[in-house]
Amino acid sequence: MPRPAAAFDDLVIGAGMAGLTVAAQLAADGRRVLVLEAHDTAGGYAHTFGVGAYRFCAQVHYIFNCGEGEAVHTLLARLGLAEEVQFHRLDPEGFDHIVVAGERYRVCNGLEKYRDRLIGRFPHDARALRRYFDTVAAIGREMDTLPKPLTWRDYATAPLRFPHLLRYQKWTLQRLYDHLGLPARLQTVLAGQAGDYLLPPAEVSLMLHVALVRGYDRGAYYPKKHFQHLVGSIADFIRAQPGCEIRLNQTVEQIVVERGRVTGVRTADGTVHTAARYVSNVDPARTAELAAGADFPAAYRARLRYPYSSGNITLYLGVAGIDLRDHGFGSWNVWHYPTDDINAIYRRQLVGQDYSDPWLFMSTPTLHTDAPGLCPPGHQILELATSAPYAPWRTLRDTDRRRYNLEKKRVRDRLVQIVEERYVPGLSKHLAIRVMGTPATNERFCNAPAGNAYGVALTPRFVGPQRLPHETPLRNLWLVNATAGYPSVAGTVRAGLELHAQLA
Ligand SMILES: Cc1cc2nc3c(=O)[nH]c(=O)nc-3n(C[C@H](O)[C@H](O)[C@H](O)COP(=O)(O)OP(=O)(O)OC[C@H]3O[C@@H](n4cnc5c(N)ncnc54)[C@H](O)[C@@H]3O)c2cc1C
Repeated sequence: MPRPAAAFDDLVIGAGMAGLTVAAQLAADGRRVLVLEAHDTAGGYAHTFGVGAYRFCAQVHYIFNCGEGEAVHTLLARLGLAEEVQFHRLDPEGFDHIVVAGERYRVCNGLEKYRDRLIGRFPHDARALRRYFDTVAAIGREMDTLPKPLTWRDYATAPLRFPHLLRYQKWTLQRLYDHLGLPARLQTVLAGQAGDYLLPPAEVSLMLHVALVRGYDRGAYYPKKHFQHLVGSIADFIRAQPGCEIRLNQTVEQIVVERGRVTGVRTADGTVHTAARYVSNVDPARTAELAAGADFPAAYRARLRYPYSSGNITLYLGVAGIDLRDHGFGSWNVWHYPTDDINAIYRRQLVGQDYSDPWLFMSTPTLHTDAPGLCPPGHQILELATSAPYAPWRTLRDTDRRRYNLEKKRVRDRLVQIVEERYVPGLSKHLAIRVMGTPATNERFCNAPAGNAYGVALTPRFVGPQRLPHETPLRNLWLVNATAGYPSVAGTVRAGLELHAQLA
């Protein structure tokens, strides 16, 4: 019997950054695109939520690859949005400030300049520092020329063309530190942005560290009209194309599979939505669960058994009656480390669930742009984040909501106390609002399995050519997200650009 005509050309499950990127380009190609999103707004981790007069971006604070020719700009230019959605660059003299045991180090744009600054402060370690920055540059140069997808010829010529990628592919950042004999303080400073991959040096892939450091080195950006405007502009573009829709509050509960093809997706209300092609912005392992009827090969199923990156706590604060610029905040983020041993700090939090002296990421979106929209006039926003394990928070929430709320309050008050003692005296008296999210919150509002922050854990085993591809064993289903791609707004947008190129 002939198959009934599908209602849409393409159906995208999930309106995170990767899903929106693919959907918008397919819509621009003139295809009829349906996006089904479980939450009541688009953006995934980049969505914005309101509490009273305040607006907070759920997780994203600053992004890279917004310059001409880079992924985010390329997407916006293709959609005709590059003029409408513009970015401020965070302070090139110090877009990230790393504060270790009270000492502040500013990470500037220009890796050679940053190297020379550090050599000025650590003259005895000049040789090790030079070797660190040389290694980062050499790996980075090869990354820039790495073709995608890799052909057999690329593999055959890799020893000549990509010697550093081959040599360091399985290294952690800690291995490089030990190899170079970098002292503890420099190890902490150079891994100061570790929260951007949520792993300590002992576990993170050196390749991933290099990609992240170089990404922000080329420019750390914040949208002039906030993340809501970036996400909303892309979503509005999709909605404005003929035959295209984004339907919110639509949780896909089943991907219906017949004879190796997807024939529809069933949402929670029982409706089956059909299209010729399907793209899942949902975690790959979760996608496979939704397609329970599919006969995936054992080798593919094995690849779906991966560990997730850790979860996180985020504290969203509305500040009134003080100016955070008087306390070391500005057009930059501040990373706080109480001591030099990042590996131990992470262990303490993730294994010991001890938040008495955590590392902290502090960001001030209202100091990155003058555009209104996030808080009442004269108020400011301060966001704090740190790592946290998923299981204990989820268990507590499921078994004893009262204790869960008490524990949230206890940790929240401790984080505020640390900022008050070390950065903003009297902060707690100036808080008009304080809202805290745990890994269980991430799972609830962003549908992130195990509250994961960055998809699959970014250890050497899961970074590189062994990364999950966009293609699946199902002929008309593709994956695109932080795991089938790379995390971050830039990483997921790039994944969306790559998948669109395959589908076009
Ligand atoms: C604490 C933290 C800080 C971060 N900071 C930054 C930062 O400063 N800069 C940066 O670039 N990146 C940052 N990131 C990472 C970045 O936010 C993510 O890597 C990126 O946004 C992930 O995009 P994604 O396309 O994979 O989708 P996700 O954001 O994971 O979105 C997936 C979407 O699919 C929907 N969905 C899931 N299941 C279903 C279903 N069954 N049916 C329908 N819809 C479904 C979800 O509701 C969600 O909207 C941060 C992340 C965290 C956690």
